Amino acid sequence: MRLRGCNPEAFRLMASPVAHSFAGFWTFLLLTARLKVRLATACRQYLPQLVLLVLLANLADVDFLFGLGVGADLHHGFIHSLAAAVFVALGVSCLWRIADSFWRSATFYFLAYSSHLLIDLFTGTKLGWNATASGIPLLWPWEKDFRSPLVLIVGVKHKDLPALFSIQNVQSSFYELLIFGVITAALLALWVRHQRSRAMSHSRETASRVVCNSNPIQ
Ligand SMILES: [Zn+2]
Repeated sequence: MRLRGCNPEAFRLMASPVAHSFAGFWTFLLLTARLKVRLATACRQYLPQLVLLVLLANLADVDFLFGLGVGADLHHGFIHSLAAAVFVALGVSCLWRIADSFWRSATFYFLAYSSHLLIDLFTGTKLGWNATASGIPLLWPWEKDFRSPLVLIVGVKHKDLPALFSIQNVQSSFYELLIFGVITAALLALWVRHQRSRAMSHSRETASRVVCNSNPIQ
């Protein structure tokens, strides 16, 4: 794990749990599509699965908590890599299968975990096309930090507790709530529309089968 010392400027910004939790929920939407259940039903019946996917989408940021303890930036180390996503996905799938097979469950876990990496790639200090993204060791053990030249999320500060609960962090979290909330609303609208059209075509098929059965001569 890399240590960046105690210089406050060395601390990299990170997306807040708001953005990552929304991404975990998007993975849950994919799971409900796979399970072919209505979203409202899924949220009731599969609440533990939802909670687990949201936790996995946030898991990579546990490294900053250790950094808080020692006053150094331990954030964006090994656990912000695809290798960690694979290890975690396989390990959790050994313990609990949320889909119909080991590999499908592992795929959902991988998607939830790696959504974190994707969001972090686009997180920096200033919105727009610039070089302020923090960068993560995506292909660890290769030490190179990967970052997007396009910053879509202004990260929150986490060098100490006052910084963590600063007004700037509240503003950044509110921005994430707005942006990710709008995207989620759009996804939900598409999802409900898809479910309705599927239900209509299913009822049409059932009706035509009933007509065929009631007229055996045809
Ligand atoms: Zn992170």
